[in-house]
Amino acid sequence: MTSDLSQKNLWRPYTQMRLAPPPLEAVATQGSRIVLADGRELVDGIASWWTAVHGYNHPHIAQAVADQLARMPHVMFGGLTHAPAERLAARLAALLPGDLDHVFFSDSGSVAVEVALKMAAQMWLNRGVSGRTKVLAFRGGYHGDTMGAMSVCDPEEGMHRRFGAYLPSQVFCDLPRSPAETAALDAALASNRETLAAVIVEPLVQGAGGMVMHPPEVLATIARLARRHGLPLIADEIFTGFGRTGSLFACEQAGIVPDILCLSKALTGGTMALAATVARTEVFEAFWSEDPAAALMHGPTFMANPLACAAANASLDLFETEPRLDQAQAIARRLMDGLAGLSGLPGVADVRVLGAIGAVQFARAPDLAALKAAFLDRGVWVRPFGDIVYLTPALTIPADDLDRLIEAVVAVVPDRAAALS
Ligand SMILES: *Cc1c(COP(=O)(O)O)cnc(C)c1O
Repeated sequence: MTSDLSQKNLWRPYTQMRLAPPPLEAVATQGSRIVLADGRELVDGIASWWTAVHGYNHPHIAQAVADQLARMPHVMFGGLTHAPAERLAARLAALLPGDLDHVFFSDSGSVAVEVALKMAAQMWLNRGVSGRTKVLAFRGGYHGDTMGAMSVCDPEEGMHRRFGAYLPSQVFCDLPRSPAETAALDAALASNRETLAAVIVEPLVQGAGGMVMHPPEVLATIARLARRHGLPLIADEIFTGFGRTGSLFACEQAGIVPDILCLSKALTGGTMALAATVARTEVFEAFWSEDPAAALMHGPTFMANPLACAAANASLDLFETEPRLDQAQAIARRLMDGLAGLSGLPGVADVRVLGAIGAVQFARAPDLAALKAAFLDRGVWVRPFGDIVYLTPALTIPADDLDRLIEAVVAVVPDRAAALS
C-alpha cells in the first residue's frame, strides 16, 4: 500500500511526520494518472498543486525540454540572455492585458511574490518617496511561504501564525463584497495613506485559503480603490493563471490591468519550476534611471533557466493550438452538474465551481485522514484540506476520468458530512 522507501532523510511539506502515514511512492505519471510503485493507477484530481494543466508528460513539452537539454540546460542570466527567455517574455507580454510588458523571471511562486513586493517598495524609493513599506492584503489570502509572502497571507490562518514575530506587519481587510466592506477598505487605504506601498490580491479565487471565490465586480472594486488612492495593485495569479478560472488570466474577467502580476504554478505546464513577476510600463519606468542604485535589486541564480523557459514556451504553444479554455468551461459544467446534489446536505456548508475548480465545503473540518483514505480506496488522488474537498484536474482530463473524480466526491462526502452535523 505505502512506499517501502525508508523516508529516513526526507523532510516533507506541511507534514507532522510523526503522525502522518508514510507517503505513497509514485513511479510514473501519464495524462491525468499517477502510477504507484505497487502498480495502482490513481486518477489525479489535483494536477500536482494545479501545475499540470495539459496533463502529465505532454509529448510537446517533453520534446522541447529534451531539445533544450541537449543544447544548453542552463546559463547565468547576469550579462547574458537567450532565445527561450526572450521569446517567453515577449509571449507573456502579448498575452497579458494592457501594458504588462516587463517580465522578471524567478523560480517559485513565493519568490515571484517577494519580487513583486520589492518592486512596489523600491518603486516608491526610486520616486523619492520614503516610508511606504506596508502592503494591504486580504483576509483569507495565500501568497507563499517565504517571509515577505507569509506576511501578506491571512494573519490568523494556522500555517503561518506562529511566525508573526518575525514578519513585517501589514494592513488586512476583508474582500469588499458588501457596501460596508467596500467602505472599510476605502477607509483603510485612506488612513494608511503615508505607509502603504501596494495592494495585493488573488484575483477571483483565494486558492490555498480554501478555494473561496469572489465575483469579478469585487476585483474591479479593489482595482478602482487602489487606483483612487494611488497605489499599485499586485495580482497574484500564481494559482488562477493559465485557464484555471475559465479565462487565460482571472483579471480579464473583471477587465482590469493590475500594475504587477505574478505567475508560476501552470507556467511550464507542470514540468519545471519557473515563475514570473510582470510589471506595467509605469512601474518599470520608476527603475529606468542614470542611477545604478535604482536598479531592481534581485537576481536568482537560476533566473530564466533555459529548460524551464523552453517548457513554458511549449506550454504556451499548447494554449495556442489546443482548446484549453473550452476544456475549462466544459469541466466547469460537468463539475456544476456533478456536485450540485451535495449542496444542502447535512454537514455541507457550500458547493462552488469556477472554471476548472470545484469545491465542497464542510460545516467544519472533517476527519481529513479518513477522507483521504476513502478517496484512495476509490482510486482517486484528492487532497482535502481544512474544511474543503476540491477538484482542480488537468484541463485535458478525459470525461470518464473526470466522472470518476466527481463520483468519488459524491460517494464519499455525504457520510463524512453527516457525521459532522
Ligand atoms: C502556490 C501559490 C504561491 C506560492 O508558490 P510556490 O511556488 O509554492 O512558492 C503563491 N501564491 C499563490 C496564489 C499560490 O497559489
